[in-house]
Amino acid sequence: MGIQLNGIGVSKGIALGKAHILHRDDIEVVKEELPAHKVNAEVQRYQRAIRDAKHQLQSIGDSIPETAPTEVGEFIATHLLMLEDAMFSEAPVRIIREQACNAEWALRQQLDSIIRVFESMEDDYLKTRVDDINHIAQLILRTLTKNNNPLIQTPPEIDHWQGDIIIADDLSPADTVLLQHMGIAGFVTESGGQLSHTAILARSLGIPAIVGVHQARRYVADGERLIIDGELGLTLGQATRQETGHFLKKQRRFLSKRRKLKLLIETPCITACGEPINLQANIDSENDIDAMHQTGLSGVGLYRTEFLYLNREDVPDEETHYTVYRQLIRKLAGAPLTIRTVDLGADKLNKHLAPDLIAHHNPALGLRGIRYCLHNPRLIIPQLRAILRAACHGPVQILLPMITHVSEVHELKNLIESVKSELKGENIAFKEDVRLGGMIEVPSAALTVQHLAAHLDFLSIGTNDLIQYTLAVDRTDDTVDYLFDPLSPAVLTLIKRTIDTGKKYNIPVSMCGEMAGNPRYTRLLLGLGLRAFSTPPRASLEIKKVILDTSLEDLEFLTQAILEEGSSTARTVLINSLNNLSE
Ligand code: PEP
Ligand code: MG
Repeated sequence: MGIQLNGIGVSKGIALGKAHILHRDDIEVVKEELPAHKVNAEVQRYQRAIRDAKHQLQSIGDSIPETAPTEVGEFIATHLLMLEDAMFSEAPVRIIREQACNAEWALRQQLDSIIRVFESMEDDYLKTRVDDINHIAQLILRTLTKNNNPLIQTPPEIDHWQGDIIIADDLSPADTVLLQHMGIAGFVTESGGQLSHTAILARSLGIPAIVGVHQARRYVADGERLIIDGELGLTLGQATRQETGHFLKKQRRFLSKRRKLKLLIETPCITACGEPINLQANIDSENDIDAMHQTGLSGVGLYRTEFLYLNREDVPDEETHYTVYRQLIRKLAGAPLTIRTVDLGADKLNKHLAPDLIAHHNPALGLRGIRYCLHNPRLIIPQLRAILRAACHGPVQILLPMITHVSEVHELKNLIESVKSELKGENIAFKEDVRLGGMIEVPSAALTVQHLAAHLDFLSIGTNDLIQYTLAVDRTDDTVDYLFDPLSPAVLTLIKRTIDTGKKYNIPVSMCGEMAGNPRYTRLLLGLGLRAFSTPPRASLEIKKVILDTSLEDLEFLTQAILEEGSSTARTVLINSLNNLSE
């Protein structure tokens, strides 16, 4: 039997090919003390390496075809900017001078201190940015030692790796772009996670990829035939004929589905029976707007603004907010933008801005989201001012997270009124009637949604928290993950109640939790009456495909049966039937 390795599948697709092990040994760095007269020459050697590294990146950037998703070029551009940043262009030079040491040692000292800073950060996304720092440092180091990256030494037009599966310790975005030029079939890396840039890039480029396969290079032999499944995170060696047949079939299905999905980008999102469905994007930053445009989504249903607050020691000021919102509005070119006010607390913490949140035993039940903002208006006032100002330039609406009681809506409305009077007093232009919506993500909000609907302009169901709070299952705790059930009758009842109440009060109800981005639940949600979905852009075409294939009148019977069914096994059978209804 051949090897079977498990890792994190980060980019769907099946690849069958020959393993090509990429050995790029760690460059050992030792300290050399230099006589004073050699220090200037060493500084010049370092600066030359920076210039050469820049040229390498620029030529990779230039080689990206126009048809590639925009973020591919952005990754390379970001690395170029980092290379030019003082952390690489100046700090090591200072260390060379201060310690009269070799450039490699200075770079290593600087790298260690940057990594220490990053590792002390709380935000997972930013923590993974340490990969970028490492990639840049490795690039400079290899340039310095002339131990060049074998990928960069290999001209991309040479196709001797075509169809191979690359097994590497790690790949930088630049490596990934080069490998794609070489026509590789997929890759497996020993390090990396879902959020690493290499993973994101693999998804954008459509390369099947698995990361986090520890010691993969020890277990796989160079030249060995491999199969990788980028969905399951599975690497298989010496597959039997039967296994190979199975994966070839899966590959054919996957490729044909992807081709068909791409054809849907421009297709209007309308059910088979003619009902228009609003399909919007969840975004975390400006970069996601490009992905949104590339999948044909009609606007932003949820902009999580937490990123503006995380990993900084001061509250972002009004201008910081305003500049970001203006830029988003510009990029959206008339498409609507739903800005959620900051949702700090629970798993989204910032110990500098919110030290009082850290000590609590039960942060998910503590001062979170709107509660924290109402306790600390200094956190939200600059944000509200900026939103009201930015709203003069495009269709913007405000969404409030973690509402548990209508009194919070009233308090927030009062705050908005006082912000408006301030702006008026200061003669600053703003939009008077910005629509205000509330997240339904706590059972009390769903159970009393009629009170909220009477005072809000729209509702958005946050199933990630709604499931967590309804079922008392911590969304971040793997040990209770099996209890995190979107099909629970308790959850479905609250969703239905919210949708029905929205209809009654004639206000739009959307869903922005992960459930909205999972095609398994699309028909059920349509059956429950949902007509607006906000999903991560990468999920949207699959959702659209289900919507296009669905006739609403067919859903009623099975939707009702699922709502009333107590047994989870029976519910699974029912939802499978719902999803398999003839098209
Ligand atoms: C949710 O809870 O479903 C949601 C969309 O908000 P977040 O995941 O940011 O808490
Ligand atoms: Mg939430």
